[in-house]
Amino acid sequence: MSKKKLGLNTICTHVGEVKDEQFKGAVSPMYLSSSYEFLDVEVKRYPRYFNTPNQAYLAKKIAALEHTESALIFGSGMAAISTMFLAFLKQGDHLVVQNTLYGGTVNFIKEEFPKYGIEFTFTNGYKVEDFDEAIKPNTKLIHIETPSNPLMTITDIRAIAKLGKARGVLTSIDNTFASPVNQNPMDLGIDMVMHSATKYLGGHSDILAGVVASTEEHIERIWNVGKNLGGNLSDMTVWMLERSMKTLGLRVKAQTNNAVKLAKWLEKHPKVAKVYYPGLKSHPEHKLAKSQMSGYGAMLSFELLEDLDAYQFQKQLQLIKSSMSLAGVESTVISPHLTSHALLTQDERDAVGISDQLIRFSVGIEEVKDLKQDINQAITALK
Ligand SMILES: *Cc1c(COP(=O)(O)O)cnc(C)c1O
Repeated sequence: MSKKKLGLNTICTHVGEVKDEQFKGAVSPMYLSSSYEFLDVEVKRYPRYFNTPNQAYLAKKIAALEHTESALIFGSGMAAISTMFLAFLKQGDHLVVQNTLYGGTVNFIKEEFPKYGIEFTFTNGYKVEDFDEAIKPNTKLIHIETPSNPLMTITDIRAIAKLGKARGVLTSIDNTFASPVNQNPMDLGIDMVMHSATKYLGGHSDILAGVVASTEEHIERIWNVGKNLGGNLSDMTVWMLERSMKTLGLRVKAQTNNAVKLAKWLEKHPKVAKVYYPGLKSHPEHKLAKSQMSGYGAMLSFELLEDLDAYQFQKQLQLIKSSMSLAGVESTVISPHLTSHALLTQDERDAVGISDQLIRFSVGIEEVKDLKQDINQAITALK
């Protein structure tokens, strides 16, 4: 059976299963060996080589979901992204990177790159021209994130891939917010895709993991650095991730459907000033999102009216938790100005459009009517 022809939920359920030849169990056995036979074997296996049975097989599921030849699984999203960067950037090279980016990635670039003598430029915006003007003769990689955190800006993936090819520069994307269910950047020409698997791939707020997917050639290069840095995921957690991913398609589609409904409802809500969601016609890049995403995702942000205290609002919520992470089956909210963007000055936050009234909403699988009711009761409690 050709993997390409399998549908989303079949890939989620079956691709990359480790067959239990011994006892014929229904699910993959967990192989916890850190020591494998080396005489007369095809593969010399060792967990840090990313090639234990559970790691090697789950990587097939990830590659199938991102329409790539190969993939690697890491101990965290940051292990995935740092290994990918260090595989393609050496002393004297230059990275062009989107200005709105996950905070951990920004810290990695700013704090670690100078130690390695790697140069970088954060773009002035997220339009293709902003990336074009940041490219230098020594640029080796362009890295983007779309939809971006927390204002859900949309970067033109096809245009960035085209720019990279025209200028002889590789391109990579952080596809965490969309998940492979809603966006497949390799089909649009991007060279490498990474995820924090802590988010949608894990989906139950109980796993820290990361993945990179790409061609065999690029993955081989990342593997060579990865085995030296030692950022593989332990096989017990790999097994948990496999179990979680069986429901990835079901979960993310349910979450996305909920997000569409809630975004439309919030946009009409008398106590909400603004909603940021690529699925809304009012979103400035709605058409672009439609052209490159198969669904608009389950992340959205909204601003409460000035007279409502966003901090108190979150304390009043009963069902929806305030939480630092995102993408679990449970709905969560966060104040970017108190968390991810707390280190910026008020002026810097104003410049990027992150107000004190802004709330980022990771929409879960609960019933929409219950989520609406929770938001309404929290607003009522403020008055
Ligand atoms: C969480 C996150 C990361 C980092 O992943 P960890 O698993 O926490 O290391 C990277 N990018 C995005 C968009 C994220 O949300």
